[in-house]
Amino acid sequence: YVAKSGGTVVEAYDPARDGSTAQALGVLGELRGAMRRGELVLHYQRKECLRTGRVVGAEALVRWRHPERGLLGPGAFVPQVEASSLVGEFTLHVLDLALAEAATWRREGHDVPVAVNLSARLLLDADLPVRVADRLARHGLAPDALVLEVTETVAKSELEVVDRVLRGLHALGVHLSVDDFGTGWSSMTFLSRTALHEVKIDRRFVAGMLGRPTDAAVVRATVELARGSGLVVVAEGIEEPAQRAALLAAGVEVGQGYLLGRPVPAAEFRRSLERAPVAPVPAVAAAAVPV
Ligand code: C2E
Ligand code: MG
Ligand code: MG
Ligand code: MG
Repeated sequence: YVAKSGGTVVEAYDPARDGSTAQALGVLGELRGAMRRGELVLHYQRKECLRTGRVVGAEALVRWRHPERGLLGPGAFVPQVEASSLVGEFTLHVLDLALAEAATWRREGHDVPVAVNLSARLLLDADLPVRVADRLARHGLAPDALVLEVTETVAKSELEVVDRVLRGLHALGVHLSVDDFGTGWSSMTFLSRTALHEVKIDRRFVAGMLGRPTDAAVVRATVELARGSGLVVVAEGIEEPAQRAALLAAGVEVGQGYLLGRPVPAAEFRRSLERAPVAPVPAVAAAAVPV
């Protein structure tokens, strides 16, 4: 059968097409009900300007308030979901939650874009830009209120389709971010960079940059690439003041990490917005930052 989800026809979940381990089936069998019962919740982690400390965005990170297993992180179920036919429905569900929250921030006077993680597999769906536009309109949000973080794990054979979808999203005005930059096959570097808005340096390079010259080199190279292409650079996983300082010195403008703020439930994130003023995303650093 075909399930209707808020007016959009989505593929029905078919267990036969999914991974067959008992646990995967357990998770997937429960997920639909979990979405209906509101057990999936988003926590929000601030993205801030490293120079001023102001919030420039927030990343939505999914958690499952499982009735028996407690609060589950994405590692416990997202990989199974992504390998299943439920991925489209799941992503639109998460997108809806995130946009509803961003609409609330806006009503409370905070112009903070929300970032949602997107499975690269969804970029094979030619209708994705239309679906996203529909969701934005429903929440009364402009496209630039949304950032889509895509992990760079796209097969070369699929690049052409993916590129078309990325261009469609870009044309819509949604900001596209390359997540975990440097860890994948770097196939994203073959894509039209004009469609991209930001790159996120993976936290493994941030963790290593003070001790390993090769990690520091990846950070510098990413900043170079980004400047050449007019992209905003975000560093993830900042845990220590020395990392923050080194990133700033290397020309990274935006950061995320436990040092700046842990992912927190929506209510707590809203309270943190009340405490600090919000700045627009800083311009791409042509500015005088010593490298
Ligand atoms: P990601 O997009 O790279 O998200 C960053 C992850 O790093 C988050 O883990 C976050 O809690 C963690 N993190 C942030 N700052 C620090 C830090 O300073 N130190 C350390 N050690 N970790 C930090 P989380 O929430 O467990 O999410 C893991 C991954 O799951 C995400 O990686 C993302 O790829 C995926 N994910 C999360 N939510 C969604 C979703 O709604 N849809 C999809 N498709 N994937 C999601
Ligand atoms: Mg992310
Ligand atoms: Mg990331
Ligand atoms: Mg990461």
